[in-house]
Amino acid sequence: MVSRSRKSPEKQSGTVLLGKYELGRRLGVGSFAKVHVARSISTGELVAMKIIDKKKTIDSGMEPRIIREIEAMRRLQNHPNVLKIHEVMATKSKIYLVVEYAAGGELFEKLVRYGRLNESAARRYFQQLASALSFCHRDGIVHRDVKPQNLLLDKEGNLKVSDFGLSALPEHRSCNGLLHTACGTPAYTAPEVIAQRGYDGAKADAWSCGVFLFVLLAGYVPFDDANIVAMYRKIRKREYRFPSWISKQARSIIFKLLDPNPETRMSVDDVIETAWFQKSLEVRSDVVELDRFLEKEAKTNNVVTAFDLISLSSGLDLSGLLVGRMRKEKRFTAKVSADGVVEKAEMIGEKLGFRVEKKDEAKVVGLGKGRTAVVVEVLELAEGLVVAEVKVADGEEEEEETHWSELIVEFEEIVLSWHN
Ligand code: ATP
Ligand code: MG
Repeated sequence: MVSRSRKSPEKQSGTVLLGKYELGRRLGVGSFAKVHVARSISTGELVAMKIIDKKKTIDSGMEPRIIREIEAMRRLQNHPNVLKIHEVMATKSKIYLVVEYAAGGELFEKLVRYGRLNESAARRYFQQLASALSFCHRDGIVHRDVKPQNLLLDKEGNLKVSDFGLSALPEHRSCNGLLHTACGTPAYTAPEVIAQRGYDGAKADAWSCGVFLFVLLAGYVPFDDANIVAMYRKIRKREYRFPSWISKQARSIIFKLLDPNPETRMSVDDVIETAWFQKSLEVRSDVVELDRFLEKEAKTNNVVTAFDLISLSSGLDLSGLLVGRMRKEKRFTAKVSADGVVEKAEMIGEKLGFRVEKKDEAKVVGLGKGRTAVVVEVLELAEGLVVAEVKVADGEEEEEETHWSELIVEFEEIVLSWHN
């Protein structure tokens, strides 16, 4: 079924797929698909071809995810900022997903190269993202994976939201209307999603919109820390710094979207109503201006913004955020209150014969045995969202190993999920 074209036998390029598409260069690789540009033999139109290896996807339980992606995209064909799906084909071993080709590539690649945007260019992309998400929310579909790799540009520079692979259709909701799958990308992920509790997906998308707008205007992510507990603390305390050039109105919107409490967080629909958002809505010249702006910036701006896109794309594997970790440390979200974790840490320490030391007020417990010192730090990120970090503060390797493993198993009872 998949035959090599006689004209260009090199590599995969030139391969004719199912007698309909000629395969071109590779655009990228995702966690379960390879993406190539392809040309329709009958119309000459360029498309993007997502090639999914069924063997791999079935092994890792990915098939439902793909089916969901297709279902969700099919229902969202009428929005200009939602990437279109043309056709789905399958052989015994592969699924071919033919989608609209976003010739402009990833928006964030541009940002990495050229730095932050001016306010009107940023607003234009923000309008396009919010309008696509609001369209989806109306249909009961949430994206849940708004991240740099999924925000593409077509040849005119219009934003295209791709990849509803993690989106949840209404029928995937639990009876209380809340979602239960943890997914997304840490730097863009709302605190309640990281906590893996039931959450309102539309509000989680609103959070990601807030991060997106901040990044466009600032040129860096609002919450960034090699240490995930420190990052949680920053999120909870809304600890991020606006660079001086961000306007008052834009700050106010970002502030309301980055509300750690989903109940009081501004929704995507609310943001659309704001005067800042409405300004120059649908004025296409912004997009053209953007390209000129980027060209100019490229010439004048030698400083490349340090986006850590690798850490942004690590999915929910929070360990991807931790660099150069030397000693043993583990983090978890807890089933119990912050005080509950502190109490448990003290109990475990006593039970296992550790010296227990608790600092007044602070939610920190020190545990010592022999030469090993372990610190348990507890944080309440938002109401009901408790994160704890257990780490070896001092010790000697061999001894440390035994003390560490006996301690860790004891915590299991109060752990909702481990993060590394
Ligand atoms: P995930 O597996 O979580 O979806 P991902 O978004 O990086 O991660 P893919 O959706 O498989 O993975 O896409 C891989 C890369 O291919 C993207 O990052 C993007 O750069 C490129 N790409 C995907 N779809 C298109 C498209 N329609 N047009 C142009 N480039 C695309
Ligand atoms: Mg993707």
